[in-house]
Amino acid sequence: MDLLLATHNAHKTREIQKILGQEFAVSDLRAHAEIPDIHENGKSFEENATLKAVAASKYFPALVVADDSGLEVDALGGAPGILSARYAGQNASDKQNIDKLLGELARVGARAKRSARFRCVIALARKGKLLGTFEGMIEGMITEQARGLRGFGYDPIFVPRGFEETFAELPAELKNSISHRAKAIRALAAKLGTLRTDD
Ligand code: IMP
Repeated sequence: MDLLLATHNAHKTREIQKILGQEFAVSDLRAHAEIPDIHENGKSFEENATLKAVAASKYFPALVVADDSGLEVDALGGAPGILSARYAGQNASDKQNIDKLLGELARVGARAKRSARFRCVIALARKGKLLGTFEGMIEGMITEQARGLRGFGYDPIFVPRGFEETFAELPAELKNSISHRAKAIRALAAKLGTLRTDD
């Protein structure tokens, strides 16, 4: 079954392909220059994922999937949330985003309350119609300092519940089996299974 992932991010495409298996032929927007860029102007992960999947599905005959994800820190009222990729400004580096986040936590004096979660919402659409949204979440804590070299984004300052290491210190396979994105992809896979038997 063909599946278009509404992203230019090869890393996401590989991860989704790996979890869904060979029954699905996953391509992404790098192979579809005819599909215009979609502006992420929603107010939630769900709205953004839905906007992207529905818009791209008007240009592509098969199933289309889009995701939106980010980090929510309780002491910062859920920030950076949907602004995670550009918390320190447009085109900010991972390090700039991390520095800003640690700075904000220090500013609000959050020594004790450093609870946080990564959230990912995946939307599935076909021919301009939303077929469903699927969410994955992982709870954890924000460290005082960045630790580890693996992963991307906020991985060096996020310790998942039940572990001592940050996501950037843990093996990639372990992160990719417990992450917010893995959970959302597994929920999507269950739905795709029902679509296959219905079709
Ligand atoms: P998007 O889903 O591609 O819009 O990315 C959202 C942003 O959230 C990323 O640029 C990262 O800063 C952050 N983020 C999402 N998932 C992860 C993760 O698994 N590890 C670290 N940072 C993440």
